[in-house]
This record gives sequence, structure tokens and C-alpha cells, in this order.
Amino acid sequence: MTGGSTGRAVVTGGAGFLGSHLCEALLARGYEVVCVDNLSTSDGTNVSHLLGKEGFSLVRADITERLTIDGPVDVVAHLASPASPADYFRLPLQTLDAGSRGTEACLRLAAEQGARYLLASTSEVYGDPIVHPQPETYWGNVNPIGPRSVYDESKRFAEALSMAWARERGVDVVIVRIFNTYGPRLRAGDGRVVSNFIVQALTGRPLTIYGDGRQTRSLCYQSDLISGLVAALDARGVTGPVNLGNPTELTVLELASQVLEATGSSSEVVQLEALQDDPARRQPDITRAGELLGWAPEVTLTDGLLRTISWFAKRLDLK
Ligand code: UDP
Repeated sequence: MTGGSTGRAVVTGGAGFLGSHLCEALLARGYEVVCVDNLSTSDGTNVSHLLGKEGFSLVRADITERLTIDGPVDVVAHLASPASPADYFRLPLQTLDAGSRGTEACLRLAAEQGARYLLASTSEVYGDPIVHPQPETYWGNVNPIGPRSVYDESKRFAEALSMAWARERGVDVVIVRIFNTYGPRLRAGDGRVVSNFIVQALTGRPLTIYGDGRQTRSLCYQSDLISGLVAALDARGVTGPVNLGNPTELTVLELASQVLEATGSSSEVVQLEALQDDPARRQPDITRAGELLGWAPEVTLTDGLLRTISWFAKRLDLK
């Protein structure tokens, strides 16, 4: 499909950080968008500007209980789940429900409607990876009973379930594995590293490093990630899994320095206890996304951080 496509898209988790940006991108491409969210880790603010806009509707519902959408559906994008470690540590059962029952409800809807179905999976399926960078062919290193397992195993199960519905029921599935993404609409209190560091730097509080700060992440700006999701939806017949992320890798300590520099903050940096099973390093191999989707990220970390900082500064009413 190209720019002027029309169709009806259901976006679960559509009021969340990435979900709300995806709703906007699909509306801009001419889709009618049904945003489904239980508002458990968001409050509706991310989509409040879309309410009343033609083609957009918000359904407050918990997809782990039921997902009933009247009328035709061409696309189901399943993003609903707590996604920040702080959130899934706090909501372990909800997280497992979103990956299991929630995923099944989305697949059932896609099967009934003959819709293209996208599963927002995660780099967490690789756990604390032994292979570096991580290609999609790597099966991962996950502790099945640790505190992160509620998210990691939930998404791994969601991938297995999606593949089974693709194989047995012919659903047009695509699985994308999303690596760390940041940008406007991250919740100030959601506990992720970029939002924590920016809010701490802007408010003059110490930047909290978990462990020695030598663990790495590779950070993708939201608009790049969203164009990857749209490309994956467009590439009908492509099943994946496909990694989406920015391969520029840095340590958490380096990120803290960059945030301090970009904000001009004189906050100090403090070291706290390391999180259990925190992946030591993470970097996507995005060869497959290039080959199958013609996709690659474009926004540099410096630019993305500046955009994110200015959004938080306005929101925190600092500038
Ligand atoms: N982290 C940190 N300080 C914080 C928040 C996170 O040092 O205030 C670290 C965390 O331990 C991890 C990395 O930053 O190594 C990324 O954490 P995040 O919660 O953003 O996402 P994850 O990649 O773990 O899902």
C-alpha cells in the first residue's frame, strides 16, 4: 500500500508511547483508526488531540477480556502491553495476560477479518544475549523464572502463538522485534532510562545509574521506529521476525553524559544497585529490515535527544 491507502486499522495499546504515534501515522496515510487501550500504563493524554478528528476513535477496553470491533478491519497492530521494566515488574500478571490472552484476541480478530496483523515483539526475546549484535536467527538467553520473564516469555509466547495462527489459520502475520525506542510521549515516570535521565537532568536531581553503567543499549528515535512499523504493515506476506532499532550502541554511562551535555544540567550521577538479569549489552542487526522492508533509521542520537529534551522541558513547564 502507498500514501493514499484507505482501510481500517485497529491499534491495541494505541494510547501508549509508540501506539499513539502509530495511530497518527496511519491516520496521515488515510486509514480509519480504532485505538483500543485499557489506559493501564497511559492516561489518554497521548491521543487527546486526536479525539474528534475524522477517522479516529478511542475504545477503552481490556483486550485480555474481550475485543469486539464492529465493521470491517484491514489491519490489526497489536502493541498493547506494559513495556517498561518498571511497569512489568509492577504488573506481572497483566503483562502475561497481554501477551497470551490479549494476543489471541487480536489474532482471532485478524483471522475473522482477513486482516494484516502486526505483533509488536521486543529485543527482550533475546534476553541477556550471548550473540552480539543480535540477528533474528538468534534464539536468545532468557531466564524463564526471573523478574523480567513476565515480559520476555510473554512476548516469546506471543511470537509462538502468532506463528501458529499464521501456519494453521493462514493469518497474514508480521512480527517486529522492537529495540529501545525513545522520544516525545514517553511517560515522565515510566522508569525507562531516557525518560529518567532527561527528567532528572532537567529537574536538577541525580541521574540514577543501575549497576556500573557499562551495560549497553542502542536507542532508536520514535519516528524512525514508526516508519518501520508502517513499512512492516505495508509489506504484506512478509512474516519476519524483523528487528527494528538503531544499531548505534552506547553504554548507560555514555548516555548519562550525553543527556547532561545536551541539557546543560549540573546534576550529579549516582550508582544504584544493578537490576536482576539486566541485559549486559544490546544491539540490533538490522540487515533483514533493510532487505525485506527497505528500512533503516535516520535520526541521530544527538538530534533525537534534543527533540525529546525540548518536549519534556515544555511538558515539565521548565522552558
Ligand atoms: N537504567 C539506569 N537508570 C535508570 C533507568 C534504567 O541505569 O534510571 C538502565 C537499566 O538498568 C538498563 C538500561 O538503562 O540497563 C535500559 O533500561 P530501560 O528500563 O530503559 O529499558 P530496557 O532496555 O532494560 O528494557
